[in-house]
Amino acid sequence: MKIAFSTQGSSLEDPIEPALGRCRNFLIVDLASGAFRVEPNPGAKASGGAGVRAAEALVAAGVERVITGSAGPNAKAVLEAVGIAIEEGRRGAIRDHLPAFPAHAAPAAEKVAASPALSPPSRPNPAGWCFCERCGYRSEEDQGLPCFKLRCPGCGSTLERRFGG
Ligand SMILES: [Zn+2]
Repeated sequence: MKIAFSTQGSSLEDPIEPALGRCRNFLIVDLASGAFRVEPNPGAKASGGAGVRAAEALVAAGVERVITGSAGPNAKAVLEAVGIAIEEGRRGAIRDHLPAFPAHAAPAAEKVAASPALSPPSRPNPAGWCFCERCGYRSEEDQGLPCFKLRCPGCGSTLERRFGG
C-alpha cells in the first residue's frame, strides 16, 4: 500500500502542505517496504486545473491513500472515482502521520542507483605496452624487453609494441 502526502519539501520531517493541488511535491511512502520517494506535483505550476492534474499524478503513481490539508472538489472527484482514500485536515511533519511500520521496514529514502564512481583518467604510458594482434592480450606494464621478443601468454603469438591511451 502506498500513501501520498502533499508537501513543499522532500523529507519525512517536512510539513504537510495544506493545499493538495498546489503542493510542490508528493512524498509517496510504500508501507510494505518503508521506502519513500518524492514526485513533483504537475499541478504546482499549472495555471488552471491544478487539483485535477495533481490527482491524476497520484492515480498514476498507484497510491491508495492521500494525506493532505485539503483537496479541492475536482481533485476529490478524480481520486474518489478510482477508490483512493483522502484524509484531509492533516498538518505538521509527515513523519507524525505515518502509520506504524513493520519492524523491518523503517522509513527510508528509496535507494537510487548510484552513478558509477568515476575512475581516474587512464594515463597513457609513454613507453607503450606490448599487444597481441591475434587475441587482444595487452601486457600490463613494460617489461623492459622488446615486445617482439615476447610471446603472448594467451595464444603464443609474438607481441607488438603499441602506444596511446
Ligand atoms: Zn595472443
